[in-house]
Amino acid sequence: MYHTIVIGAGPVGSYSAEKLAKLGYKVLVLDKETSVGQDICCTGIVGKECLDMLAIDNSLIFKSSSSVRFFAPSGNSLRVWRNEPVAYVLDRPLLESKLVERAQAAGADYLFGTQATDVQLRKEGLCVGADFGGQKKAFESKTAVIATGFGSSLSRKLGMGKITDFIAGAQAEVKINSIDEVQVYFDQRLAPGGFAWLVPTRDNKGLAGLITHKQPGTYIETFLAKLKEQNKIASTKVIASYGAIPLRPLPRTYARRILVIGEAAGQVKPITGGGIYYGLLCADIAVQTLHQASLAGDFSKSKLASYQKNWRAKLGKELRTGYWAHRLYCRLDNRQIERLYHLANNTDISRFIAEMKGFSFDWHSNLILEILKRLAFRYPVETGKTLAKHP
Ligand SMILES: Cc1cc2nc3c(=O)[nH]c(=O)nc-3n(C[C@H](O)[C@H](O)[C@H](O)COP(=O)(O)OP(=O)(O)OC[C@H]3O[C@@H](n4cnc5c(N)ncnc54)[C@H](O)[C@@H]3O)c2cc1C
Repeated sequence: MYHTIVIGAGPVGSYSAEKLAKLGYKVLVLDKETSVGQDICCTGIVGKECLDMLAIDNSLIFKSSSSVRFFAPSGNSLRVWRNEPVAYVLDRPLLESKLVERAQAAGADYLFGTQATDVQLRKEGLCVGADFGGQKKAFESKTAVIATGFGSSLSRKLGMGKITDFIAGAQAEVKINSIDEVQVYFDQRLAPGGFAWLVPTRDNKGLAGLITHKQPGTYIETFLAKLKEQNKIASTKVIASYGAIPLRPLPRTYARRILVIGEAAGQVKPITGGGIYYGLLCADIAVQTLHQASLAGDFSKSKLASYQKNWRAKLGKELRTGYWAHRLYCRLDNRQIERLYHLANNTDISRFIAEMKGFSFDWHSNLILEILKRLAFRYPVETGKTLAKHP
């Protein structure tokens, strides 16, 4: 019998499978796709801390980035930079393959083309029911880790509740014309409730994408047309991929013998939609929780509850502040966004970020609060008016 069945061979699932296998546990990973790295909608940007955790070789890094240019609806822009690289654009499909290879090398088994449909708890273990090309299969184990990404119904079926807010994403690979800096666009007509980006990758290629609360298909077409009109990309005849990103965590991420990790648990930065780093951090906590439970021979719900307590202690403030800032942004109209750009320029926010001690690509709450404090201190009335629509 397997010790753990990991459902989902995304980065977070495979990372946890590798860690569990290295601790000596017998691990099986199931994925509904027929091979690794299929149907991925992700830009693959991570910060330094995440890069260190992944411990991958440089061939997976398309680019390092030490600056971003933020565009306002009018086309005015604000460049923010640091003296050292703070983010890395990874070859996301290749990352997924490498993590699978590493987990396999550590001893984990993989079955692709196998969609888990339910998890039945038994007295001495559990049984994962699955669909394998139309055939029903069942796999037994002591524990399971749900790492299905956003949208699977497994955790809801197990009574863990459901994620109550999410945002839709769309992205396409494009040929770019002489752009070597990440560009981000804040414009409620271009990406309502979200933002759009153009990220150079390698060999004059890049990723153009957006997250928005509605109709990502329509908005990505408009965004690509705008980039083409500005001669930033060569063609709009590209195939977009789509995904959804949770903005709030799952109410409960543990049950008897079961933990939920990564995007399936809503462990995502609500401001940027980045989920790789927070997912890995929580995967480490999940692995340690299962290891301790295994040593104690106790996989009860109350024993596994420490997983949620610990990951919330690490990320709770970030998720709450990030979601608050996201909701605040959703309420702004383009005129207010323009005004904030103006205020940011006048308060020299770029220099503040360039010189900020302890700046991190991954931890946003202090940065958000510091920026708001600076704006409100220099321009109390204007900032107050702009932010008056506070949710
Ligand atoms: C447009 C866009 C851009 C993004 N850009 C970034 C970025 O730059 N940086 C960043 O950090 N994050 C980014 N993200 C988010 C990031 O992609 C996710 O947070 C990350 O992939 C989550 O990893 P995961 O392993 O939890 O889930 P996933 O990567 O979604 O993997 C889940 C796996 O589970 C499998 N699966 C699902 N259901 C089942 C089932 N029932 N049975 C078996 N297998 C199943 C799927 O096939 C998949 O392989 C972006 C997301 C979008 C939509």
